[in-house]
Amino acid sequence: MNGVLIIMIATMPRCLHIFDSGFQCIGEALESTDFCEAHQKVVAFESERLQDSRWRKTLLRFVALVLLLMFLIPLFYTLRDLYFGPPVKAQEVW
Ligand SMILES: [Zn+2]
Repeated sequence: MNGVLIIMIATMPRCLHIFDSGFQCIGEALESTDFCEAHQKVVAFESERLQDSRWRKTLLRFVALVLLLMFLIPLFYTLRDLYFGPPVKAQEVW
């Protein structure tokens, strides 16, 4: 009985909608489309969604760059102080 249930779940067409969190929708997809009832309108705005994801990708890339710089700049100053800074001053800090 359990085995039959697992096979039914495995063969059940799942909604292809991916949430912002990265998880896939667990809803059952309707036969004519790849999405569940709740995500039917996503199909209609497919082109708009693609453009939206492109914008999101650009934004994510920008955020990643900013984060990288935020990590690199203190690292650069740390290394510069370490190798080119006056050693006496460094001892005072410690
Ligand atoms: Zn769905």
